[in-house]
Amino acid sequence: VEELFAIDPLLSSEEREIRDTVARFGERRLRPHIADWFEEGTFPAREIAPELGKLGLLGMHLEGYGCAGASATAYGLACQELEAVDSGVRSMVSVQGSLAMTAIHFFGSEEQKQRYLPAMAAGELIGCFGLTEPDFGSNPGGMRTRARRDGEDWILNGSKMWITSGSVADVAVVWAYAEEFGDEKPRVRGFLVPADTPGFTTREIHRKLSLRASLTAALDFDDVRLPADAVLPESRGLSSPLACLSEARFGIVFGALGAARDCLTAAIDYARTREVFDRPLAGYQLTQAKLADMALELGKGQLLALHLGRLKDRHEITGEQISAGKLNSTREAIAIARECRTILGANGISLDYPVLRHANNLESVLTYEGTAEVHQLVLGKALTDANAFR
Ligand code: FAD
Repeated sequence: VEELFAIDPLLSSEEREIRDTVARFGERRLRPHIADWFEEGTFPAREIAPELGKLGLLGMHLEGYGCAGASATAYGLACQELEAVDSGVRSMVSVQGSLAMTAIHFFGSEEQKQRYLPAMAAGELIGCFGLTEPDFGSNPGGMRTRARRDGEDWILNGSKMWITSGSVADVAVVWAYAEEFGDEKPRVRGFLVPADTPGFTTREIHRKLSLRASLTAALDFDDVRLPADAVLPESRGLSSPLACLSEARFGIVFGALGAARDCLTAAIDYARTREVFDRPLAGYQLTQAKLADMALELGKGQLLALHLGRLKDRHEITGEQISAGKLNSTREAIAIARECRTILGANGISLDYPVLRHANNLESVLTYEGTAEVHQLVLGKALTDANAFR
């Protein structure tokens, strides 16, 4: 598809090199194990994170503190290649770099940045990002988690749900309404909570049918006492976590298309060798129509992703544009994955092929970082000036 749309020449040699290095790592180190991890419902984050760190993929778009300082486009291409293996791997990288590290980079004190970022960039420390709660996902402003002052300390109470890497993280970035002296209303602020803090417990979420090669957890905070400097000092309001989400969403614009490309490649390979009614499946017009339509959507998606990457690298991208990219990539990727599944017939439902694994993963990708509906509402508001969220 890249060839069909002449996408390669649009990339710099450095961008191609980063993309190809990540693709080789994915094929060599991750793909041989991914079906087993998915089946077992696990991901060896502790083992893989330092390897991702060595490649410079953790917080790769951030500057300084041991981060690679790569372009947004290069980061997107890395996400594409990781998600071509599995959305779970890309999720871990997104959460570490675009959510947890970005929160510290954007809103942390110099001391917090020095303490956490180099170790997180190296994959020696794993982070998670706790915004969603059991009763509040699309509407995080409704969150119930609270931090109140007790002398200089903070006391944190509440719970978070669906937190990627939550059960393995060394440090959780937790968003809570902070009740400060002198403030009229509590404001959402970020807190750094080390995993071994008394009163902080995690529970891994099992029985998932999607993102199985990813650790997902519930976090509970029961009178967790935190020192005064646990708060991210520059975080003031819900716009702080939303700014981090915007960074992670951008990675998904590229990432989801990696999963779609992997499905399409598998379907084309399969159709060329599978004989039905004495001829290869690839030679039937119905199959070719499916393949052509999918290649078209994939190519259009990749061109849009690249355009958004260039806008982001010029610091010109808007939230609505990222919403448009996230909506398009996830919606088309899941449609492609499901269509590819049909081409593989019964084999399509097996973990011996990647397509249903990708399709199932993409159910989560469609939902997290703003559901498809929420991004439609973002675009609807931009088009009409009318807020249909509530
Ligand atoms: P709801 O908000 O309850 O939405 C339910 C349905 O209602 C959806 O279809 C939604 O689009 C629709 N809806 C909501 N509001 C409106 C409206 N105004 N108008 C019309 N329709 C509406 N969260 C984190 O904080 N950190 C993580 O690391 C993280 N990792 C995740 C990993 C996985 C595998 C999954 C599945 C989720 C993860 N999440 C994480 C949570 C995710 O961000 C939320 O699930 C998501 O924001 C949706 O929230 P919800 O599930 O509560 O759905």
